[in-house]
Amino acid sequence: MSESRDSSPEAAPASTAPENLCFVKEVKNRCRICFTCVRECPAKAIRISKSQAIVVPERCIGCGNCLKVCSQQAKKMVSSIEEVEALLHHGMTVAACVAPSFPVEFQAEFDYRVLVGQIRALGFQYVTEVAFGADLVADRYRKALARCDGQQHIATTCPVIVGYVERYQPDLVPFLSPIVSPMVAMARVLRAMHGQDLKVVFIGPCIAKKAETKDPSVEGGPDAVITFQELRELFQRYGINPHNVEPTSDFDPPQPSLGSLFPISHGLLKAAEIREDILTNDVVATDGLHNFMNALNEFAAGGMEAKLVELLSCNGCIAGPGLTSKENQFQRRARVSAYTRNREKGLDAERWRRTIDQFADLDLTRTYRSMDQRIAGIDEKEILEIMERMGKHSAEDELNCGACGYPSCRDHAVATYKGLAESEMCLPYVINDHLKTILELSDLNERLATTQETLMHSERLASMGQLAAGVAHEINNPLGVVIMYTNLLLEECAKDAEFKGDLQMIAEQANRCKRIVAGLLDFARQNKVAHQAINVREMVTSALSNVPRPADITLEMIHEESDPVAELDRDQMIQVILNLAGNAYDAMPDGGHLTVRTKEAGDWIIIEVQDTGTGIPRENMKKLFEPFFTTKMMGKGTGLGLPVVYGIVKLHRGEITVESNADPSQGPTGSTFRVKLPREAQSHAARGAV
Ligand code: ADP
Repeated sequence: MSESRDSSPEAAPASTAPENLCFVKEVKNRCRICFTCVRECPAKAIRISKSQAIVVPERCIGCGNCLKVCSQQAKKMVSSIEEVEALLHHGMTVAACVAPSFPVEFQAEFDYRVLVGQIRALGFQYVTEVAFGADLVADRYRKALARCDGQQHIATTCPVIVGYVERYQPDLVPFLSPIVSPMVAMARVLRAMHGQDLKVVFIGPCIAKKAETKDPSVEGGPDAVITFQELRELFQRYGINPHNVEPTSDFDPPQPSLGSLFPISHGLLKAAEIREDILTNDVVATDGLHNFMNALNEFAAGGMEAKLVELLSCNGCIAGPGLTSKENQFQRRARVSAYTRNREKGLDAERWRRTIDQFADLDLTRTYRSMDQRIAGIDEKEILEIMERMGKHSAEDELNCGACGYPSCRDHAVATYKGLAESEMCLPYVINDHLKTILELSDLNERLATTQETLMHSERLASMGQLAAGVAHEINNPLGVVIMYTNLLLEECAKDAEFKGDLQMIAEQANRCKRIVAGLLDFARQNKVAHQAINVREMVTSALSNVPRPADITLEMIHEESDPVAELDRDQMIQVILNLAGNAYDAMPDGGHLTVRTKEAGDWIIIEVQDTGTGIPRENMKKLFEPFFTTKMMGKGTGLGLPVVYGIVKLHRGEITVESNADPSQGPTGSTFRVKLPREAQSHAARGAV
């Protein structure tokens, strides 16, 4: 074979295969999407949908590997028990064909005749060994090979291999040997012996055999197939056990010879007396999912000279998914060998030969069909888009880690394109995505916490403002009376009156109280704002000229705004500048530098008052705008300056923020108060900007 054949499962146009050839189903909601079945499925016949791994019937080749590897038992075999019961209970003559791997399953029952007795007890008229069919099939292979017609054969005793070639290597269909499997051969033998009305049930280790009997291109096969596991269920259902049957019943003829070795890898070769000669390299035999796929790929690529390629999907039928044995491979193999050896001892070779010759003309041929399931017509642009979505922007991003169940990121993208996979199956993608979400969430959380704190602060200030307003109103009037009467008394008393000094003290302190009350009212926003277009530069300059500046402090004014006009309450703004500048001077007892900057940002005008003073300790930052918070000496500070500033700014629907450093080890100390005000009163009021 020289020409190279495309072996990729993504090359030719897809066609649809009948769905009823699939005997593996998923168990609802059992899947925990570990992707093991996806990874282990040789046909990539598993689709992930809504967090469940679903078998795609037309792609399934019935190897049963997904059943073996699923730790959650999320896959099950479709039962054929009722089909068999229907045959047994309707007065038909039914023959059982037992696959030669039975010694692996039924060990407790050995003597094998116990098993035969149990099967008979179910109602089977004949209990036979498929191994005789295997003998016949082996004979046909030997003859085919002896023909020396240059034809290469892929042996077709394993239905999984046939199913795989028909779906994923359709170009190799002509190489599939046109010889039926031992199961079908035995069914045809039995009907030739007992009449065409005979019903035949195959009992074996294989799920794919169920599909083989339903395959329209295979005629004359069994009527139903059950696994050894299902046979056990039947025994249980009818209360049949090794202790209540007679162990005297032998298999019905014809008796097999070395066909009993078929379930072991190379068994066909042994039965057909074909030597796997390394020198001639005429025959190649291998088993297991990866080995058989590699062998077929090599065959398709034209790199295999062998005349016969014997492939088994499982590690021989002794490892089939329909077996319940927990024994290891070699123990299983030993059981089949031992059984064959023992049976060979009692075999009448002459008689066996005669029986084989008797069926020399029995038609053991079959046909195959292409059911191409390769993914075709891939749109490279879409594949690239899928890769992008999975965060595979460059070759370095393609980790090909296999966590998704596909061998490479590209295979995953192709499966996604075909609707078999989802981007979320990519573990690195999901981890990255989750990390991104976590970061976003923590960022949001932080912002939420800050907003919440600001809100609580504003609420506290608002309720303080209400309280302050109430108290101020109540005090304002009596205070006015005290001031008025004190002034009257001062006017009336003699210049040298003894108590004149006391009266002056009362007036002075009462006036101080009046100022405090006025401040409280400002803070509580009880005053109205008289918006007017003012020149902010001019307002700031004029306000600063009214604050006496200590000699050791330098003042710098920077104006960066292009338009200095804004709609503000001039008097209130002067109050803001006076308070901020006054505080700044107080914070620089040993001299320093004050920078007052005006600038703009969009619809906002900004005034910054920056000093190089002592700074504000971190623990005081939250209390700055609370009324009566002061760190100044008694009589020097009232703790109302900043609350008033806050009240005025809020009244203008503006914002005030502070940055400060009081720790020289963290850099130069000092504070910056930033007042942000809407340039136009109305628009911001309407928009509700605060
Ligand atoms: P008062 O000036 O009467 O203390 P304020 O409300 O104006 O009341 O200020 C409250 C406190 O905030 C001050 O006592 C001071 O501790 C702190 N403070 C305000 N501005 C500054 C500043 N520029 N530098 C350092 N501390 C400041």
